[in-house]
Amino acid sequence: MIKTRGYAAHNPTSPLTPFTFERREPGAHDVQIEILYCGICHTDLHQARNDWSGSIYPMVPGHEIVGRVTCVGGQVTKVKAGDYAGVGCMVDSCRHCSACNEGLEQYCEEGPTWTYNCKERGSEQLTFGGYSERIVVEERFAVKVPASLDLKAVAPLLCAGITTYSPLRHWKVGKGQKVGVIGLGGLGHMGVKFAKALGAQVVMITTSPAKGKDALRLGADEVLVSKDSAAMARQAGSFHFLLNTIPNPHDVNPYLALLKRDSTMVLVGALTALDPPPQGGSLILGRRHLAGSAIGGIPETQEMIDFCAAHQIVSDVEMVPMQAVNEAYERLVRNDVRYRFVIDMASLKQV
Ligand code: NAP
Ligand code: ZN
Ligand code: ZN
Repeated sequence: MIKTRGYAAHNPTSPLTPFTFERREPGAHDVQIEILYCGICHTDLHQARNDWSGSIYPMVPGHEIVGRVTCVGGQVTKVKAGDYAGVGCMVDSCRHCSACNEGLEQYCEEGPTWTYNCKERGSEQLTFGGYSERIVVEERFAVKVPASLDLKAVAPLLCAGITTYSPLRHWKVGKGQKVGVIGLGGLGHMGVKFAKALGAQVVMITTSPAKGKDALRLGADEVLVSKDSAAMARQAGSFHFLLNTIPNPHDVNPYLALLKRDSTMVLVGALTALDPPPQGGSLILGRRHLAGSAIGGIPETQEMIDFCAAHQIVSDVEMVPMQAVNEAYERLVRNDVRYRFVIDMASLKQV
């Protein structure tokens, strides 16, 4: 076993603190990665604070992991020592259901093994995430990261990137379409960049007028402030697609009213009940669709990384040391992030 240092939550209310645990020695199909950077996803906060219930402690969060491969098992072909690699939200799945066979491991019929807040398959051993100095993972669940990209800004691609890329691709967003991205945070800013790169006309739909300038810089063609009901009414029935990244229960009805007939709004943020619930009329009158999407499978995650390399797309990040993770969480709650916090894991050496 390999002694590994990290930071863990021990209950829903106390700050994260230094925590030492053990990783397995790499097996024949495993890749061992020295973690250089790990993004802070809003999901980390939801899980650490048990917002979705069922959190397991101690919890080492972190599923936007980028690092250097330090060693690989004898059967590994995807990467070699010295390469850069990434790990996202999953470290295993059943590998034989129809979803796994299609490379959609996030929809594994037996449930994927999440990178943290989960148990290893067939074992009571907890999985521990990326707020730590290294990770050991099956090569199937690692992706190759080209050295040509800014590595610290690549980390958020492993969750925020794939979670926005996947629905944009699945619903075939592209040229000639007016696309709205709702919520300019970690996911939203990647959604804007991808929708733009795919050729769509992009409207940033935000509660924060102060973010308007940034939205335009990130690639939006227009900004729509959702609290401005007159502006919302002017755009009613005009969108081909909406990507909704709002992290909390909220009223989806004003957003559904923005959709054209037969168009879709995809939820990626609100995992719990919508409040108030969607009105039947919002969907029926216009044959509109309300859908959801979870991260993306491993083949599509690699495709997304390669797309980013081809289009020079990375995340806009603010670097934080590991010791400042609790402060970063508070700022995330206050909607004070431009647009993703990333932990520089070199700071762990000072713990
Ligand atoms: P984030 O960085 O905090 O961004 C969320 C943005 O939503 C905020 O910047 C804000 O943008 C807007 N917002 C916040 N509260 C709002 C409210 N009450 N009403 C309307 N808008 C609000 O969060 P994130 O990391 O992007 O994550 C977003 C959500 O996606 C989280 O719930 C996370 O757990 C979830 N998630 C899901 C998946 C998946 O697979 N489906 C993957 C990753 C994350 P404005 O200031 O522009 O309004
Ligand atoms: Zn995430
Ligand atoms: Zn499966």
